[in-house]
Amino acid sequence: MKNNEILSNEISNILKNENAGFSLWLEKSTILFDEDKKVLTIKVPDALHKKTLINKYNNEIIKILKKHLGYSVSLNIEIKKEVEQIKNISPKISIKEHQIQLPLEPKIDYIPSLNSRFRFENFIVGDSNKFAHAACRSVAEAPGQTYNPLFIYGGVGLGKTHLLHAIGNYVYEHYPSYKIIITTAEKFLYEVVQKIRENRMDEFKEKYRSADLLLVDDIEFLQKGEAAKEEFFHTFNELYNLNKQIVATSDSPPQELKLEERLKSRFGAGIIVDILPPNFEMRVAILKQKAKELNKYVPDNVIGYIAEHVENNIRYLGSTLLTMFAIASQNNDEITIDIAKQAIKITNPSFDTTKKIGIDMIQQCVSDYFGIKIQDLTSKKRPDNISKARQIAMYIARQLTDYSLVQIGQYFGGKDHTTVMHAINKIEKIMNTDEKFKKTIEELIARIKR
Ligand code: ADP
Ligand code: MG
Repeated sequence: MKNNEILSNEISNILKNENAGFSLWLEKSTILFDEDKKVLTIKVPDALHKKTLINKYNNEIIKILKKHLGYSVSLNIEIKKEVEQIKNISPKISIKEHQIQLPLEPKIDYIPSLNSRFRFENFIVGDSNKFAHAACRSVAEAPGQTYNPLFIYGGVGLGKTHLLHAIGNYVYEHYPSYKIIITTAEKFLYEVVQKIRENRMDEFKEKYRSADLLLVDDIEFLQKGEAAKEEFFHTFNELYNLNKQIVATSDSPPQELKLEERLKSRFGAGIIVDILPPNFEMRVAILKQKAKELNKYVPDNVIGYIAEHVENNIRYLGSTLLTMFAIASQNNDEITIDIAKQAIKITNPSFDTTKKIGIDMIQQCVSDYFGIKIQDLTSKKRPDNISKARQIAMYIARQLTDYSLVQIGQYFGGKDHTTVMHAINKIEKIMNTDEKFKKTIEELIARIKR
């Protein structure tokens, strides 16, 4: 049995790595795990920490612990006593002032914490995000001069944070003298509370109000803090009056947020754009790009399968690919639909693989029937028997599934929808004139349905 202290440290690291939100709220907390009682105690500095952890992260923490420990743990969140607080902040090493010259104020605010992976160059544009993308580009190219403020909203995992950082990265590279502040509303709120407590609000005001570009992620979080709302409003006004660019993201449009009317109407004065879930073609494009970024080859039918089954969250597309590569490399396997299925089951446990006839099944059946390889169906090979089998499989896919022509094309090696349509028409024509051929197709369909 591991010693409780080691385990406590391990748990603390796991939690902090799992979610950036946790690390913010756990930074000043102490984590104690009692393995016998199966209780995790988190000692936090104040009521705000306690409330946030309980309301926002309680269930997630329990879930993560269960995943890592293999059993359920109960969570106890309490506020640290004064003595512990002081013990924790008191410095461990003391350095005499004349020995070392540290800048009084760390200049950290001037190096924006941008994620350099989130760029316009690797953001795939489709119908669902083209307005948001265009607005972000104009703002990045001419901050403060086109759309101000810019408000982006949409569901989880659809690219809001990506765009926000893309603006930041672009401005950072093209306007080197600009002071960029990128933060989340959660961090902002936390900072306000902390600075008020330390009586250092002047510093805070100075920092935010000297920004040329203020990027605030997940603004819905402001709903939770009165002082932060007020402070944000004033910061907003000052920057706005100075023509400084403000960009905010949120999970819902401003009207639906529980914020003061005056702040909502400020957002309304700029431009509000939404991001919708990507359509099939865009999901395919994103998967292809992610595979390319990872320097991996993924067959078209596998891309089609994932795109078909992972619909509403772009983050899951990426994590499914990674999981799939992990599974494949463990067993030294080729990337197949079967491995994709396993990966989707891991990233999305409620995924049901048995519910309908899939193109993968049709391809399997057709290739068995004609004694060819599945890969032949998805390749560009043109020998007569292979191309006939491919057309038959496309026809059957159209009959038995509700996949669109585009989706079917993707499964057969990324063919475009006119090729699929042509194939289907051709098979229909032959069926009308050749009774034996028609029987073959019917026989195949019957097998698949079984
Ligand atoms: P949100 O902030 O809306 O929850 P994120 O910006 O964190 O979503 O996006 C989740 C993941 O999906 C990130 O890895 C991001 O790079 C990726 N992603 C989202 N939209 C796109 C896109 N249009 N093109 C490429 N990758 C995208
Ligand atoms: Mg985000």
